Amino acid sequence: MPSEVIKNNLRTNRLPHIWCPGCGHGILMRAITVAIEDLKLDKNKVCIVSGIGCSSRAAGYMDFNTIHTTHGRALAFATGIKLANPDLHVIVISGDGDLTAIGGNHFIHACRRNIDITTIVFNNNIYGMTGGQYSPTTPNGDLATTAPFGNIDKPFDICELACGSGATFVARGTVYHVPSTIGYIKKGLMHKGFSVVEGLSICPTYYGRKNKKGSAVTLMNELKDKSINISKKETLDEKELEDKICIGIFKDIITPEYTDGYKKVLEQFNK
Ligand code: SF4
Repeated sequence: MPSEVIKNNLRTNRLPHIWCPGCGHGILMRAITVAIEDLKLDKNKVCIVSGIGCSSRAAGYMDFNTIHTTHGRALAFATGIKLANPDLHVIVISGDGDLTAIGGNHFIHACRRNIDITTIVFNNNIYGMTGGQYSPTTPNGDLATTAPFGNIDKPFDICELACGSGATFVARGTVYHVPSTIGYIKKGLMHKGFSVVEGLSICPTYYGRKNKKGSAVTLMNELKDKSINISKKETLDEKELEDKICIGIFKDIITPEYTDGYKKVLEQFNK
């Protein structure tokens, strides 16, 4: 029997989902629904916008106002939705490739504008749906369909990119650390401004298989063993940090929000 969270927030007639066995994306989708349920948000006031990719299938399963848009453009659609309906909780679900490659420009400018949208990045370090190509977060040296001898690009750190571009709430969780990840999503949803929650996910089918990382359980254990709280970062030197993943809240500040600024401009114009 599906749990209350699933019955209340998912389109059960669309299930079972298409994600591979062991994929982490369902965990993140559930984390978002639990966060919405815990905060008792009015479903009619929640709008979920996704791009293209395995992550972006989530919008089709979630029983809110949803829109599945074009590759990399979820934030452009979301910006229009938020400006037209400032009272909506607009949530963008996007993958590492969708958000930081095809949609990279939309991402940095949404951060810079500080528009009140919550972006949840399902980061599995690879393009899953399109066949295992390397993405902007694939670690240096790792294998992918388009990097059969190892990726020579340096990866983006999505949280650092978001912080540097002007996002005002930035956090990273993982599909292993579910309760804290739900907590970051809740904080992001309550934050007035552009919030980014990076959810480190696992893709056993492409990333795991190409890199001979073992099963989904092994990938999960890797997330568990490598993660440290961001507060410990200062206590470790560069060498000790090499193999670590920092999780937690990277930034939480309040600065003027974009739809408020836009409203003031309209008031001036209509005087
Ligand atoms: Fe998940 Fe990877 Fe399968 Fe896509 S290809 S559904 S990311 S395991």
